[in-house]
Amino acid sequence: MKKDEDCIFCKIIDGKIPSAKIYEDEKVLAFLDIMPINKGHTLVVPKNHSKNLLEDDDKDISACMKAVKKVANAVMKATNAQGFNMGVNTEKAAGQAVFHTHFHVIPRFENDGLHHWPGGKYQDGEMEKVRQSIASRVGK
Ligand code: AMP
Ligand code: ZN
Repeated sequence: MKKDEDCIFCKIIDGKIPSAKIYEDEKVLAFLDIMPINKGHTLVVPKNHSKNLLEDDDKDISACMKAVKKVANAVMKATNAQGFNMGVNTEKAAGQAVFHTHFHVIPRFENDGLHHWPGGKYQDGEMEKVRQSIASRVGK
């Protein structure tokens, strides 16, 4: 199991810092976020340390996704949520504060006051340029 001694989530996984545990298996731990967006907001993390999703092992990502589905089901039932968001903040620019890969499971309610991201728009021909630029780099 990969560990980073200075990582707060590694400390939680090792039981050195307490957490409100929701679910655990061989590869994954899920616990309540201490500053919930809505009550029941849960974090699903791989037990193997990686800085973020881009550096996480494919098998650990897969295990996390399976856990997200199980946990989200339980969160929705327990909180009577009408939906949930899964969020993954990757790097500082995207709001990542804890540099151990984690998946936010956030229960959502009609009229809970949270707003969706605003949608922008492409200029003429720009969308195809962006598409080509990204598509040619997938997997590289
Ligand atoms: P992010 O901005 O995606 O890196 O989110 C990090 C999340 O970790 C935040 O929502 C924090 O509230 C949460 N967090 C930080 N420390 C703890 C902790 N000790 N136990 C539970 N959640 C934590
Ligand atoms: Zn860690």
